[in-house]
Amino acid sequence: SEGALMANVLAILEQRDGALRSVSFEVTTAARAIADAVGGEVHTLVAGGPGIGAASAGAGKYGADRVFACEAQDLAVASPEAVTALAAQQIAGGDYFAVLLPASSMGKDLAPRIAARLDLPLATDATALDVENGNLIITRPVYAGRLFARVSLQGSPAVVSLRPNVFRPAERVSAGEVEMISTPAGAAGARVTVEAFHAAEGGNLDVAEASIVVSGGRGMKGPVHWPLLEELRAALGPAAALGASRAVVDAGWRPHAEQVGQTGKTVSPKLYFAIAISGAMQHLAGMRSSGVIVAVNKDADAPIFKVADYGIVGDAHEVVPVLAARIREARGD
Ligand code: FAD
Repeated sequence: SEGALMANVLAILEQRDGALRSVSFEVTTAARAIADAVGGEVHTLVAGGPGIGAASAGAGKYGADRVFACEAQDLAVASPEAVTALAAQQIAGGDYFAVLLPASSMGKDLAPRIAARLDLPLATDATALDVENGNLIITRPVYAGRLFARVSLQGSPAVVSLRPNVFRPAERVSAGEVEMISTPAGAAGARVTVEAFHAAEGGNLDVAEASIVVSGGRGMKGPVHWPLLEELRAALGPAAALGASRAVVDAGWRPHAEQVGQTGKTVSPKLYFAIAISGAMQHLAGMRSSGVIVAVNKDADAPIFKVADYGIVGDAHEVVPVLAARIREARGD
């Protein structure tokens, strides 16, 4: 609409198996806050297989005014080049102030492609967004999370990826209409095709996506003691996943997929347990933005206690079973 020129915000959503992922609602909610601050509309865009149009209506509940969906069989899994072309077409025709994506594996692939395609400024892995004097101010971690930089970008729209689990989805009463669009002509001939996603063995929820994480460190003294952590994880319910420090992964006690930190995954759950982890800078880099941090360590001077909201000084082998039992009680198990 003419009145909202350059004030709209585009949220590029992510789906898996035909359903919007929770990061999509986080991005839509963040887009709503920015659009409200600059007086614009929120548009969402999602690409997927047949049925994604109907499945994307849910974005309206999180504040989307217009919900654009592109359905095609070859968009069912992931298709970075086609989605880049689709997003570029949408952005070119849309007078956008900002374009937001999740900094998920898929968003980390897409965001720079879109920025490069349209020669737009890019900021990745944002943990906060503000509008000051009409400018978008992006807060993002630097130096492995030791500092936060507040940056503003030259040029518009700004392409910004948002760290998963940081922006909490908030429902609204309004519901946007779904509008079907198609991929631009000539988008075929992709060099990359993603055929399928395979869940990691063991069925453990991905540590980067879980809302509760139980991580173990070298102080656990070996893989034979992991059932203790597995028991705590189970007590916390299906939203909890196991994580590990690098010392544990390097020792071969746990798979690399569970490593949290600078050279592992960045996690930002609502609740993070660091059990027998010292709290080295490179570990903190991957978990510092968690909501509530609980540390168990036998050394009262362990650096992990500097970032912990709750600290228990004690032997993990004694503390963890008690913690698990109390949590089971509190959850009514
Ligand atoms: P330790 O430092 O050995 O700490 C073990 C802790 O357990 C101690 O605090 C001890 O007091 C406590 N403890 C011992 N016994 C008990 C007990 N019975 N009960 C309770 N507490 C007990 N690390 C990461 O985690 N992730 C990364 O991605 C990562 N990337 C890195 C990248 C680079 C380039 C470098 C140089 C390092 C990186 N590291 C990373 C390694 C990091 O510096 C630390 O070495 C590592 O995090 C230590 O793991 P930890 O805390 O499990 O072990």
